[in-house]
Amino acid sequence: MRDVTVIGAGIIGLTAALTLAERGHAVRVVAREIAEGTASAAAASLWSAPLVERTERARRWAYLTLARLRVDALDETAGVRDQLALAAGIVAGPPDPWMRAFAPPLRAAAPGELPPGTAAGTLSVMPLIDTAAYLPWLRARCAVAGIALEHGTVTSLAGFARPGDAVVVAVGAGAAALVGDDTLRPVRGQVVHLSNPGLTRTLVIRDGEFGPLFVVPRAADVVVGGPAQDGVWEPEADAALEQDLLRRARAVEPRLEDAAVLGRAVGHRPVRDTVRVEREDVGGARFVHCYGHGGAGVTLSWGCAADVADLVGAA
Ligand SMILES: Cc1cc2nc3c(=O)[nH]c(=O)nc-3n(C[C@H](O)[C@H](O)[C@H](O)COP(=O)(O)OP(=O)(O)OC[C@H]3O[C@@H](n4cnc5c(N)ncnc54)[C@H](O)[C@@H]3O)c2cc1C
Repeated sequence: MRDVTVIGAGIIGLTAALTLAERGHAVRVVAREIAEGTASAAAASLWSAPLVERTERARRWAYLTLARLRVDALDETAGVRDQLALAAGIVAGPPDPWMRAFAPPLRAAAPGELPPGTAAGTLSVMPLIDTAAYLPWLRARCAVAGIALEHGTVTSLAGFARPGDAVVVAVGAGAAALVGDDTLRPVRGQVVHLSNPGLTRTLVIRDGEFGPLFVVPRAADVVVGGPAQDGVWEPEADAALEQDLLRRARAVEPRLEDAAVLGRAVGHRPVRDTVRVEREDVGGARFVHCYGHGGAGVTLSWGCAADVADLVGAA
């Protein structure tokens, strides 16, 4: 058993910390942002895997995560549940065999069910991980497990750990600066949170006049997003982009016309050719990297956490 510091309190850091504590390690979490400001808090989030490797190990991570989420869903305060989703576009969506295994399509949407600007769509039941509930729920689980969450910015990994200790580097897009990983790039997303006029179905518009767009009803709001701005680091919400999101969302879902704007968020998807889950022993200390989950960090989280714990605990 080791003393482990997890750097990062997004979905990857929190699930890693909990898994390590479950395996008997003494764990603390240090993070620049603990609630707001992470990519994880900006995700709505859906069961989906864009901008990430489509490999056998990613499929394994997704399966393990889904199994764990099914257990978490038994506590209704966790914010995990199945939700009907309609994915639509100007042509029938390309079949995605990788995702079909997790969210099997129910049926093709009837013409009357299609949102304006689309011509084909598919209904499926998709796990919804309501991050507004799930991230605080995970933090509460950390407190119960004796994991301290501390605010702090780590500027260098050199000398950060004592010999024998372990450090999990779960800093998401922050790895570009902290690790100097120039294979990682941000893909910026911006969302706006609206009051919910009674929507219960997730809507994903792939393309066409009003896409790309997602409209995700959650317990306390509706999350509207869509942009994926490659290589853009801007942390502040763009007002013009938000107006455009609102216009498009109201065009495809007229019930949002009078919905109040409750808030907004920006997140940087940490995109890399492959997720980095890797051990590096330096000066007697063990560093385990876990970052680069692209648009799929929530979907792959618990599976990656299991691999992180294996690497921390290995001889
Ligand atoms: C708009 C949007 C929608 C998305 N939708 C989905 C979805 O539907 N499904 C899905 O699976 N994924 C989705 N994603 C992707 C998902 O959010 C990310 O893959 C995931 O959040 C990455 O988690 P993370 O913990 O690695 O990074 P983050 O959540 O960004 O957390 C990084 C942590 O590291 C800390 N940190 C960084 N640098 C330092 C430092 N130097 N010192 C100390 N702390 C540091 C940060 O403060 C933060 O606590 C979406 C992302 C966005 C932006």
